[in-house]
Amino acid sequence: MSSRIVRTVADLRVALAPLRGEAIGFVPTMGALHEGHLSLLRAARSENATVVLSIFVNPTQFGEAADLAAYPRTEEADVALAEEAGIDLVFAPSPAEMYPAGFATTVSVGGAITDTLEGAFRGRSHFDGVATVVAKLLLAVQPDRAYFGAKDAQQVVVVRRMVSDLGIPVEIVARPTSRDHDGLARSSRNTRLSADERAVAAVIPRSLRAAQDAFASGIRDPNRLASVVRDELTTERLEPEYVEIVDAGSLEPIAEIGAPALLVLAVRVGQVRLIDNVILGVDDLISTTGSLP
Ligand code: AMP
Repeated sequence: MSSRIVRTVADLRVALAPLRGEAIGFVPTMGALHEGHLSLLRAARSENATVVLSIFVNPTQFGEAADLAAYPRTEEADVALAEEAGIDLVFAPSPAEMYPAGFATTVSVGGAITDTLEGAFRGRSHFDGVATVVAKLLLAVQPDRAYFGAKDAQQVVVVRRMVSDLGIPVEIVARPTSRDHDGLARSSRNTRLSADERAVAAVIPRSLRAAQDAFASGIRDPNRLASVVRDELTTERLEPEYVEIVDAGSLEPIAEIGAPALLVLAVRVGQVRLIDNVILGVDDLISTTGSLP
């Protein structure tokens, strides 16, 4: 086992104490690292003296026990990749370290930003789980900057709200979605797709691209743009849960696209649930490092 792994908050504090004079960058993950995570680690590496990665499959943010059980766990490979990316420390606590007996506190971000989209489909407890674990991780690491992916756009909005509301002294940095060669957003869940399902999943980024093209051709009606996406997703192997166009800040539905809008979707492919999004309205905000097809 690598000496760079610490398992307890107490050990983390000891390891970080001598490094506190300079900037600490933090990348929280659930492991099964892929290029998307590595892009966050590289950004953290270039902007901070010390980089901490956490790997913790947070049970409280999973609605379905089967999804939690099936979530890939590849710690050894993760640590090797993270070391290649030049990180300094891996914090990989057990569930009992994060939620010891008697644990009774929930950080719950209210309002439209958690009621809607993932909050509506995965239930309130999802973002309660996310906010609580992110708060605990930020308090444990006390980083100067924490890095999150635009792929989980609603998560970024929720984490920013929580950090602002609780006055947690950290800068939340959102980084673009890293995409595979065919435009599919990289996700730890992609490894659970069969070859057939993986091929079908490529329709998802194509549907987002179609909406971007429609937007570029002048269509501003969110319903029409959502229909463009839905029309692309009509293969029988894909089950869209939602396709919505919302204000990028408030996540509230919008009548017509003026300010930057978030086109966001969740689609089931077999047993796997995938999410993706793009920004409409500001060209250079389009959240992608790989290109959409
Ligand atoms: P996860 O391990 O899936 O919970 O993700 C950990 C962090 O990596 C979150 O901030 C995600 O938004 C981010 N992330 C996941 N997939 C990607 C991706 N394809 N591109 C950029 N960031 C990502």
